[in-house]
Amino acid sequence: MNMMIEAEKKDGIESYKFHHIDTRKCAYCKDFLCEKACFRNIYTVVDKEGSPRCTIVPDREDFCVKCHICTTQCKFKALTID
Ligand code: SF4
Ligand code: SF4
Repeated sequence: MNMMIEAEKKDGIESYKFHHIDTRKCAYCKDFLCEKACFRNIYTVVDKEGSPRCTIVPDREDFCVKCHICTTQCKFKALTID
């Protein structure tokens, strides 16, 4: 089991505690602005050279302040936060 993946997958959406990532959209991403935008360093995009996929850094999700900078910056609207 890959330690990077803690998400529950359903219909292409990878769900963490309260972040949900439509990683099918990440596959088209070139700028990975989620990673750059989040000043709490909650995201890391894996396989950038192949099939990119946004993931939550283990144990960092609770640092989210729900500022929604990330959801605004992601041009594919792949991110939702409860
Ligand atoms: S979440 Fe958005 S910005 Fe981040 S890799 Fe996926 S598509 Fe790109
Ligand atoms: S809402 Fe703000 S703190 Fe939370 S993941 Fe997005 S950019 Fe980071």
